[in-house]
Amino acid sequence: MNRRAESGQKPDRRKRRGRLEDERPLLPRSGSRSREVRVVYVACEGESTEPDYLQYLNEQFGDGDGAARQPFRIQPVCRKNGMTPSGVVAAVQEAAAEDEAWALFDRDQWIDIPAAVKAAADSRIEFALSHPSFDLWLLLHFQAFSGRQSGSSKIVIEKLRQASEAFTDYDKRGDKSIRVTRRDALRGRENIAITNARSLVNCCAHGSCASKRATAETISDQADPVTPEEWSARSGHAADCPILLRDPSTDVWRLLTALGITVDRA
Ligand SMILES: [Zn+2]
Repeated sequence: MNRRAESGQKPDRRKRRGRLEDERPLLPRSGSRSREVRVVYVACEGESTEPDYLQYLNEQFGDGDGAARQPFRIQPVCRKNGMTPSGVVAAVQEAAAEDEAWALFDRDQWIDIPAAVKAAADSRIEFALSHPSFDLWLLLHFQAFSGRQSGSSKIVIEKLRQASEAFTDYDKRGDKSIRVTRRDALRGRENIAITNARSLVNCCAHGSCASKRATAETISDQADPVTPEEWSARSGHAADCPILLRDPSTDVWRLLTALGITVDRA
């Protein structure tokens, strides 16, 4: 992968793969035996919901789908007690080295987000912001959603609890896991979630944002540096759409389409 831009500060300029290279499977668990497993490091702030969800993606889709989808393995990167958005970017940069890397973060720690986006742009690490929180991405599996939340996840979580029996007690007694029945509830609804998330881009108050302009294509090492605004426009939002005003929105859908989990339709 040629994600990394400059590595001038590093004494060793040889390309290296992520630190978990030794553990990676050489062959897919099933299906085509001729296709390499795509390894994607995904770091996240939380220590429960997002890592559980990423493992679900591995289990549900990681074996690939014939010619349509390359087998993949997401390597979640998380820390006990969580991380700041900047910490998420730094952690995935460290873990992934030259492998594909994504950073997931919420709007919660908004004051740190500009620094996180700049660090991501400088290192060409893909990021997916959820505003107000990752919980919105879960809710979009069941219904469309709109209306400014100003950083509060209260209504999103209330609606998620109502949307599915499996989520009735979500975030009660600290249980924000995504396991067993909650995974079953999400399964097969990926296209609905992506459609709803794309609608939020297209309906953004900025007025010039369009999900069809979203991209996750790799940029060459030799390409010119990108600004944080240009990098955040990979979400489909306009470069001058202030990231903290993308309320509500979630870019997690781009990770799914990048992995080939669903067809990226304009
Ligand atoms: Zn926008």
